Amino acid sequence: MILVLGILIALAIILILQPWKRRDCRWRQDARKLADGRVLFTCTACGAELALPKGREPTSCLAGDR
Ligand SMILES: [Zn+2]
Repeated sequence: MILVLGILIALAIILILQPWKRRDCRWRQDARKLADGRVLFTCTACGAELALPKGREPTSCLAGDR
């Protein structure tokens, strides 16, 4: 019974943290600016591209969202 409980807790932790989504993204601000004033960021690790309003920076990797 304790073993089952332990497995359930481990599963819950894995589902909450989602470690497969945590990749080390190295976001770099792209020199190209978009027409509507947003800034384009590109990840040098996985190649993801993200357009954000000026002054904001991407926090997570998008590699797992594809
Ligand atoms: Zn990335």
